Amino acid sequence: AHLARIEAVDEKVHAFLHVDREGALAQARAVDAKRAAGEELGPLAGVPLALKDIFTTEGVPTTVGSKILEGWLPPYDATVTKRLKAAGIVILGKTNMDEFAMGSSTENSAYGPTGNPWDLTRIPGGSGGGSSAAIASFQAPLAIGTDTGGSIRQPAAVTGTVGVKPTYGGVSRYGMVAFSSSLDQGGPCARTVLDAALLHEAMAGHDPLDSTSVDAPVPPVVEAARAGSVAGMRVGVVKQFRGEGYQAGVVQRFDEAVAVLKELGAEVVEVDCPSFDLALSAYYLIAPSECSSNLARFDAMRYGLRVGDDGSHSAEDVTALSREAGFGDEVKRRIMLGTYALSSGYYDAYYGSAQKVRTLIKRDFESAFERVDVLVSPTTPTTAFPIGERADDPMAMYLADLCTIPANLAGNAAMSLPCGLAPEDGLPVGLQIIAPAMKDERLYQVGAAVE
Ligand code: GLN
Repeated sequence: AHLARIEAVDEKVHAFLHVDREGALAQARAVDAKRAAGEELGPLAGVPLALKDIFTTEGVPTTVGSKILEGWLPPYDATVTKRLKAAGIVILGKTNMDEFAMGSSTENSAYGPTGNPWDLTRIPGGSGGGSSAAIASFQAPLAIGTDTGGSIRQPAAVTGTVGVKPTYGGVSRYGMVAFSSSLDQGGPCARTVLDAALLHEAMAGHDPLDSTSVDAPVPPVVEAARAGSVAGMRVGVVKQFRGEGYQAGVVQRFDEAVAVLKELGAEVVEVDCPSFDLALSAYYLIAPSECSSNLARFDAMRYGLRVGDDGSHSAEDVTALSREAGFGDEVKRRIMLGTYALSSGYYDAYYGSAQKVRTLIKRDFESAFERVDVLVSPTTPTTAFPIGERADDPMAMYLADLCTIPANLAGNAAMSLPCGLAPEDGLPVGLQIIAPAMKDERLYQVGAAVE
């Protein structure tokens, strides 16, 4: 049914870069056979899923939305891919994304934009717009995204779906193409909080192949999603996340959600996190710096696009020509910015300062979590904007990440879930919940209570 749905609507939505029809059917049949043989299966066995094209899939194209990896067939599965398969989850295909996960609208994909199913002329968020659009257009009930600065939560918010960035280190990064290694985190996308919890449990857990993987039990997210209660919980409203630049309808729906939390028995207090005002600036130094180092591996020698390999060019020229042709504008902008910020003489002024701000943000969270169990805010300042509106204005584009970035810098767990439609444009608004690291279950407990 989902393959038929993809065939019917994806020409318009463009959520998928690659549909693995045969692979999906083979996986589904394998689950059927196990079920027929009386084997005990997990709760998601046979459930279809759309996988962001940043996770390697053995023998199935993995492009990261970039021309530089066009046609590359990975020789191995990412740990997340492996775990999905082990849970009997059926991978329908790979979803569209901003090139190397750099963007907030999926317009930076080398393979063309994805439409927001609520209004195809608007962006579905980014970088994981394909994953969220696949869910919102009923092409898949589940999807996987990655969240470096909001790329799971912001697409979830603007498509009216649920998205979770687990605690940093909660989900393995092995086989997840690296953008900014100290921030990147894979996580679940779904239509309900409980569905997200089931997927979270299936994909999370310690992995010796990822040196930053947390060696601790997966937080009890499914149990919390089933319990769904906020009675007696302390909820902090982040003071910094409102005011100029916030759409009136977004603020209205957020305030209504806070009122619901109170009605359900939560104690709500305002929390001051002054260093959050610096988060965006710090992020746009740290993420490009790490990206400039990570993307050095795309040298046209080891894998991917190779241009000018005709005997008339030196190896250095082949690398340069391939990068020139293979990387898009935003990726080049970030590599240049990051290389500059890391260069000798500028390192302390830029990268060093950004790391200090990161510490301040961490401290703001720590003192907030001494007073409250979770923090809440709108996920994004505005609803989905029209495709093209911010494409030539990187600063305007970066503002879409205003509320989501602090949780990445501190490594906390965070969720976005639907919180109604903005009265002025009828488009979905997201409620963000942030929990301390390794307390991911609190997101599900609160999310299930208010959804
Ligand atoms: N929009 C942010 C960026 O462009 C976040 C990306 C992400 O989370 N992958 O960097």
